[in-house]
Amino acid sequence: MIPLSLEQLAQASGGELRGADGLITAVTTDSRQPLPDGGLFVALSGERFDGHDFAAAAAQQQGATALLVERWLELDVPQIRVADSRLALGVLGGLVRELSPARVLAITGSCGKTTVKEMAASILRQKGKVLATRGNLNNEIGVPLTLCELTADTEYAVVELGANHIGEIAWTSSLVRPHAALINNVAASHLEGFGSLDGVARAKGEIYDGLADGGVAIANGDSAFCSLWRQQHELVYFGEQREYQARQVSLDKSGCAHFRLLTPLGEVDVRLPIPGKHNVANALAAAAGTEVLGATLEEIAAGLSQFGSPAGRLQVWTRPGLTVLDDTYNASVASVLAGLDTLASLPGYRIFVFGDMAELGEYSKEMHTQVGEHARKLGIDRVLTVGRDSKHTASAAQGRHFEQKQQLQPVLFEALSQHNKVVVLIKGARSARMEEIVRAIQESE
Ligand code: ATP
Ligand code: MG
Repeated sequence: MIPLSLEQLAQASGGELRGADGLITAVTTDSRQPLPDGGLFVALSGERFDGHDFAAAAAQQQGATALLVERWLELDVPQIRVADSRLALGVLGGLVRELSPARVLAITGSCGKTTVKEMAASILRQKGKVLATRGNLNNEIGVPLTLCELTADTEYAVVELGANHIGEIAWTSSLVRPHAALINNVAASHLEGFGSLDGVARAKGEIYDGLADGGVAIANGDSAFCSLWRQQHELVYFGEQREYQARQVSLDKSGCAHFRLLTPLGEVDVRLPIPGKHNVANALAAAAGTEVLGATLEEIAAGLSQFGSPAGRLQVWTRPGLTVLDDTYNASVASVLAGLDTLASLPGYRIFVFGDMAELGEYSKEMHTQVGEHARKLGIDRVLTVGRDSKHTASAAQGRHFEQKQQLQPVLFEALSQHNKVVVLIKGARSARMEEIVRAIQESE
């Protein structure tokens, strides 16, 4: 973290400092995390926990040297009291960002954010020192925590911005102040929080409001919402016939794409190390976002060929005769359709194992049915579903539905034993915990 003083934070966040001023050198919201000298513990109050109850542990056991609180605590450490510690954490992230000389790329979208983030980080690592969002820390807490990881020698930062409600990205983007801001796509995910696709598109558009002076707004040219965003900001596009586009796309036998990347700087051959045609669009997004920050064609091609697939996003696991596409990290309709397309592109007996998608509200039945229809259209050989609303997927795909994984598993294992070349796509919402089935297969040798 680029250090700043407690007094600076108190002033910027409208808070009051009690105790001696000192430098903040690290920050956490987790009282189990050890802190160095200068470590600040932020007490957040949530629905289930109140961070103030853990402040003593943070100070006495983990070495926190200061606290950010909403009420004074009887502890002998300097404290800043603010009205809202969540907002004050954001302010702290924004202050650190202002002190950083890094060139910053911010990424939002309905799906593929983490994938594009990893691709962009891999490209920028060809050039210099990169900070990228760890895992999926993309909300109003994770984004400031990410910014607090900026150090004086960070040259590039790639920050993922997600949203559950209107206004969240406006806030996080205002803290990130990106030099390039990118909307990867808009699809039906978190519809519960936004009401409609249009609502999702508007929420994503908030990312452009935070752009640094002279910053570049990048959008998926194939999205139906370009004209909406265009009213907000001049746009650079990636996609079909756009500034950043892919020509001569082909998939190799592992489902990984090769293509010719065209950009305003020229052309280069790209080979992706992970399967799925949708990753071509992700790669175009990463190419646009990083070229705007100064990456060359060679750095883009090298970065894209080297990046590692984030866990649970169409990760490939194989043993003789069996390929498992572990896409268990999460599921939105668009990502399920993309996963099914990838499954259909691979040779062998194709099995789709599917848990429920979450957060779809009143659209849930329709969307689960749509997934089933797509599976049937693609001619997926076997569809096995588990949970509640995925029964609509099974019925549309003429598959079998189970209420529990324990019931599904023997049927799956039997299918695996009956065919000598099998590809299985395993997918479901985070809450469906479909990785348990991946693990069961891996342990079943
Ligand atoms: P989250 O909102 O959970 O942070 P994310 O936007 O970061 O998700 P990823 O974690 O990269 O997205 O991928 C989530 C799922 O979407 C994975 O199943 C992945 O294979 C799929 N996916 C990635 N990119 C795309 C895309 N461009 N179109 C459709 N599906 C995609
Ligand atoms: Mg993500």
